[in-house]
Amino acid sequence: MADIPDSHPRKASLMSRLRMVEASKRGLLAESAMIAHGRGEAFDYLLGERTSDSASLAIREAAARLLVAESPVISMNGNSTVLAGSEAIMIASILGCPVEVNIYYRTSERMESLIGELESLRDRLGRESPEMARESIMDVEILGAVADGRILGLEGPRSLCSSRGIEQADIVLVPLEDGDRCEALISLGKQVIAIDLNPLSRTSKKATVTIVDDVTRAMGRLAEELLENPTTTDWNNEAVLRDALDIMSSSSLRIG
Ligand code: ATP
Repeated sequence: MADIPDSHPRKASLMSRLRMVEASKRGLLAESAMIAHGRGEAFDYLLGERTSDSASLAIREAAARLLVAESPVISMNGNSTVLAGSEAIMIASILGCPVEVNIYYRTSERMESLIGELESLRDRLGRESPEMARESIMDVEILGAVADGRILGLEGPRSLCSSRGIEQADIVLVPLEDGDRCEALISLGKQVIAIDLNPLSRTSKKATVTIVDDVTRAMGRLAEELLENPTTTDWNNEAVLRDALDIMSSSSLRIG
């Protein structure tokens, strides 16, 4: 990775770009991955590249709901694996739940690469963690290789999932989900926790709890929040979407 000085104001953003470029060369990403990432970057720029207060509330609500869920699962695609793979493993180890690779453009090569990537992140995290946490990290199961489940309401390869993961889950944490799938999961009676920098996306509007924040920041914060044992509230998701839009529209007034 390039040597970017800590003082560089866009360091985190540039590091994410480099991770994406490197992962793309290794075949982990779909062809459109950079376009999706660029759209996210633009929204993040308007948000001031920080976790807003309302996003922090959404992270707490997400943690509370995941902690009381019977059967949570974390659904990962290419971008989220590259940008928050280790954070997903941490969250799964705290919750004792599986991580499932579930991608829009499904090819066996990319499924294998992403599962392999998450397994090696898990093994590295396990090796580097204190004894106390090691076992629960190493126990995190990476699902997706066996597509013996279905997401009813979706057609073709996009409907495939694991029967022990998304199919039987009561709550799905989906960083960077697409709108159709979010809608289908909600129609099946599941709760969806989405992380999406675009408060206007169909995913953001349909999800049960939307965290309008960068996926790397949000997943790291979520892992910390789970340790605080928060409790659920009467959640108003529309309010956090409105707040994100307010921040973005007032950011133009802050310039100059
Ligand atoms: P939808 O179907 O929900 O309307 P979309 O089709 O507009 O979404 P996709 O291309 O499926 O969008 O997914 C990209 C989404 O992920 C965009 O909304 C983008 O803002 C968001 N995104 C991209 N990078 C990040 C990131 N690093 N953190 C959080 N969100 C991101």
